[in-house]
Amino acid sequence: MSNKFSQSLYEEAVKYIPGGVNSPVRAFKSVASTPVFIQRASGSKIYDVEGREYIDYVSSWGPMILGHSHPAVVAAIQAAAERGTSYGAPTELEIEMAKMIVEAFPSVDMVRMVSSGTEATMSAIRLARGFTGRDKIVKFEGCYHGHSDSLLAKAGSGIATLGIPGSPGVPRALAELTITLPFNDAEAVKTAVDAYGEEIACIIVEPVAGNMGVVLPTEGFLKMLRDITRRYGILLIFDEVITGFRLTYGGFQNISGISPDLTCLGKIIGGGLPVGAFGGRKDIMEKLAPAGSVYQAGTLSGNPLAMSAGIETLKILKKNIGEYEILDRRTSLLCKELQLLFDGRDIPVRTNRAGSMFTIFFTSEAVIDFSSAAQSNTELYGRYFRGILARGISLAPSQFEASFLSFAHTDEDMEKTLDACRLTLKNW
Ligand SMILES: *Cc1c(COP(=O)(O)O)cnc(C)c1O
Repeated sequence: MSNKFSQSLYEEAVKYIPGGVNSPVRAFKSVASTPVFIQRASGSKIYDVEGREYIDYVSSWGPMILGHSHPAVVAAIQAAAERGTSYGAPTELEIEMAKMIVEAFPSVDMVRMVSSGTEATMSAIRLARGFTGRDKIVKFEGCYHGHSDSLLAKAGSGIATLGIPGSPGVPRALAELTITLPFNDAEAVKTAVDAYGEEIACIIVEPVAGNMGVVLPTEGFLKMLRDITRRYGILLIFDEVITGFRLTYGGFQNISGISPDLTCLGKIIGGGLPVGAFGGRKDIMEKLAPAGSVYQAGTLSGNPLAMSAGIETLKILKKNIGEYEILDRRTSLLCKELQLLFDGRDIPVRTNRAGSMFTIFFTSEAVIDFSSAAQSNTELYGRYFRGILARGISLAPSQFEASFLSFAHTDEDMEKTLDACRLTLKNW
């Protein structure tokens, strides 16, 4: 595929921006390619700088559940901009947004808005530490919670050992406070909590993992986390930055019936603008400044443009709550058909799906955690990615990400996607 204009923009971008991109996975490194530069997007489609059209499954990494540039969301942003873009003072919009989140999440009594998912998780962890007076935290391998220092730690040499920095620049002393365990491994959690229970402030988890590719929690795993955290006075944090309003109007906690103490949100609740939020039990949230003493702040937090885009998005989702089931069925059908195409060519793949998010792993074994996901053949994924991209389908440029359907995706889009896959596999 020739994409000369994108190629030349990339060559210019790398002169001024590290790696040419403002977030690493956009760089197409892991699919042995260079990024397509985008000019515009509408509905289920995204268009590159040469005007080429793609059916988009990246969905800006999750937010665009209504499709791109939804007219009502665009109108809400425009109307808000005409009233001013930021005041640094409270607005009614923030109350409306907070109420919508509180109503949608039974475990959330109060909520604080921030400007990214990273800020949401970072602040929720500070709050958990401040509330419990404990320093250690537990996270799971392959779960991503943004790029704050405490969360860029990785597992040490054994289960329940102290963490090590996951990136240069993360202080060892901080990484040591993060215990990283295998996802879906109840025994590992018990071992860690046995060893450090009284020192652990919180366990943070993506209730459905989306950042090692889609990995579902095994039966009873979340319940086990809920029970053990209660027993030891540890706060349970659900990072629903992806799953919030993705699987239903609310979070995976509404589906699983497991209530965390704190919930982190982002992506969909910003309707495509930079937003995050964290909320939970009133007695915990009231420890936050200025009500309490745990400090947290943001110049653009609760920004009127972002609130307007988010509120409009949530309103539309609420009005069309029945559509989630249709989206689920459509995604299920697409996944089944794609799996059949691979099966027909004897290419071993495993499809994991939760509602409208899915990943096709290039492996023959079930994917239940990071180490099984890591068995995937990333070279084959790269080949598939490049083949299907050349035929007008935009997937995440990494094996370890989710694909997302939106309410704007049509049956025709599904057919075109299957045709593109068929043609790609024909020339395999
Ligand atoms: C995207 C994501 C984040 C980080 O959000 P940003 O807005 O990129 O900072 C945190 N947690 C999860 C589960 C995410 O998918």
